[in-house]
Amino acid sequence: MMNKFTIRRAKFSNHADGSDAVLTHHDIVGQAAGPTIGVSASIHGNESTGTEIILDLYRALQSVPIRGRIVLLPVANPRAYAQNRRFTPIDELNLNREFPGDPNGSYTQQLAAAITQEFLEKIDVHIDLHSGTDRPTVDYVYIWNDEALSRSFGSSVLYRPQPMREGTTFNGTTTAVTIKRRNIPAVVVELGGGIVDQRPYVERGLKGVLNMLRHLQIIEGAPTPPPKQIVVGAIKTIRPTSAGLLETLAPPLGEVIRKGQLLGRVVSPYTFEVLEEIPTPYDDGVMILSHLSRNLVESGDFGYMVGDMNGADA
Ligand SMILES: [Zn+2]
Repeated sequence: MMNKFTIRRAKFSNHADGSDAVLTHHDIVGQAAGPTIGVSASIHGNESTGTEIILDLYRALQSVPIRGRIVLLPVANPRAYAQNRRFTPIDELNLNREFPGDPNGSYTQQLAAAITQEFLEKIDVHIDLHSGTDRPTVDYVYIWNDEALSRSFGSSVLYRPQPMREGTTFNGTTTAVTIKRRNIPAVVVELGGGIVDQRPYVERGLKGVLNMLRHLQIIEGAPTPPPKQIVVGAIKTIRPTSAGLLETLAPPLGEVIRKGQLLGRVVSPYTFEVLEEIPTPYDDGVMILSHLSRNLVESGDFGYMVGDMNGADA
């Protein structure tokens, strides 16, 4: 009655240091027939919380029988992951802008082609786990083509991009190229990151993915209905225009921030002067990405993301 676990290593090239360029998948097959669910993380190598969520999912599935098949891709960009980098160190490209890839292209394009062939072409549902980096912390879920599935993860803030812009997560040259062509449900989760204990986020991530699997009837049991959720249609990213210690004054993630409130300020670690005060962009906003500790930033680094509550639906 238990699932069958197979580790699948797909070699797509090699490295100058003599090691193989490999994508490592776990194929988990249940006794009953059903669809194939793909769960991936660390497409951006410095967003590693999702990899931890997949580790705990792998452990949880040792004792939870599934229907169909689950393919885990815990580290989509191993070289970037190993160096805690957003881009692939070999060619400095953003993997999530190189899909569907090219087996004869640059290293990252070869990697994207391997992910397309070995993972995206083989799944019927895609759950892609992103997070903040080791600086900002993020908490929202994209609604793209399956709202109920996005909601079933259980986060309180969701984002429905409108209209789709070229170059956003679901367009252009992201994994969405293949998702769209194959017309399969896909959800991008943004959860965790920052210089804070990741365990609460990993626990939430595991709970969320298991609930999605219940919603998809891959595992038994009724899914927990989502909490009260806010769906925003617009998000603004705010970047400090000076460098220094970014000190957050905004309320916690998921909470409302109103015109006149400050998101944070940049303080010089040398003179202790306040170099910049960063206002919130909307009359009524909701916190989506923030710095939960005093972090050193350069001018133009990721500061905050705020969702527009005006026109949001609950
Ligand atoms: Zn990402």
